[in-house]
Amino acid sequence: MSMNRSGGPVTAAPVGRLIDSLARLPGIGPKTASRLAYYLLRSSRDDAMALAEAIIEVKERIQLCSVCFNVTEQSPCAICSDESRDGAICVVQEPLDIVALERTGQFHGRYHVLHGAISPVEGVGPDKLRIRELIERVERTRPDEVILAMNLDLPGDATATYLHRLMAPMGIAVTRPASGLPVGGDLEYADEVTLGRALKGRRPL
Ligand SMILES: [Zn+2]
Repeated sequence: MSMNRSGGPVTAAPVGRLIDSLARLPGIGPKTASRLAYYLLRSSRDDAMALAEAIIEVKERIQLCSVCFNVTEQSPCAICSDESRDGAICVVQEPLDIVALERTGQFHGRYHVLHGAISPVEGVGPDKLRIRELIERVERTRPDEVILAMNLDLPGDATATYLHRLMAPMGIAVTRPASGLPVGGDLEYADEVTLGRALKGRRPL
């Protein structure tokens, strides 16, 4: 049997395209992509259409907040527009980190989403992240505190160090949540008690 690009048996072109698209998702290899594609082939038209429409809706209705770069239906987002928030900015790697931090109920300021972390190995330099926008925002708004809630892994550490170096001369209080999170663990997977404790015990850099 000949194999196509996806590593599966040759199939009708639309199925091959679906497999290729699914295989580009994070954590989905060619085998899983094939399994998902054939699952969708067998599923009802309604279920498949609901998935397709959800994807289209996300791309058409969701944008990035012009202030914090969180995903939002309207910009500025609800958190940036909330006048009751205090004058701190918590810097995170991904939008999902905000969901995790909000669940702790320990933070009442606003956020800034970098959309990744500095990783020379993966070719991600500071210019690929929302760092210039963060520095401009900090200069403009002079927050009471900037919390660097990066992941506790190599890229997270590199990013926190880089940001601290940029902000230290600006006379801004820069802190990082205390350890106590799983090393190398993504913030979004930390449970809210651990995360809340780490946030409360944050230390100046
Ligand atoms: Zn925002």
